[in-house]
Amino acid sequence: MSLQQTLTERSNHKCELCTSPQDLSVYEIPPTDGANSDKAILVCETCKGQIEGQTELDAGHHWRCLNDSMWSQVPAVQVMAWRMLNRLSTEGWAQDMLDMLYLDDEMLEWAKADGGSNSDDEPTLDSNGAVLNAGDNVTLIKDLVVKGANFTAKRGTIVRNISLTSNPEHIEGRVNGTRIVLLSCYLKKSN
Ligand SMILES: [Zn+2]
Repeated sequence: MSLQQTLTERSNHKCELCTSPQDLSVYEIPPTDGANSDKAILVCETCKGQIEGQTELDAGHHWRCLNDSMWSQVPAVQVMAWRMLNRLSTEGWAQDMLDMLYLDDEMLEWAKADGGSNSDDEPTLDSNGAVLNAGDNVTLIKDLVVKGANFTAKRGTIVRNISLTSNPEHIEGRVNGTRIVLLSCYLKKSN
């Protein structure tokens, strides 16, 4: 049985992320070591285009499908859901889902090892190009409206003890007692 057939059977002829039955094809989750159904998922054109970055990420509606698919019994689907939520994590709803999605250590390592632009070897840089590390303190260089938390983080606010994410454009930190994702381009490293 081919990989496509195996996955079509597993998914019941549906996109494993959004359940669309249209234009299904195999997506091998990088880093991949050859055709293996444990490391591949069946996806539709819409999902695949956005996963591979050929079409713009639809943060408005499409990926709400992950609310269901992130609970899949298939580890590969959960890993892919985690990666997409991570890319969307500036959206409050995506961060909420990410907070709920528990992956064990082995799966989390796999989820983070995407080898693409989000890999560890790309440093997280502040607005001046200084490398940010976990535990650093940063200052906001503009007012930022925090979606979902209903407040504005003011320019000049110091965020202490930041965490890095797998996306070099995002860091996490506490502002007004709320853990939020911040874009590293709006930050300046401080002492
Ligand atoms: Zn889909």
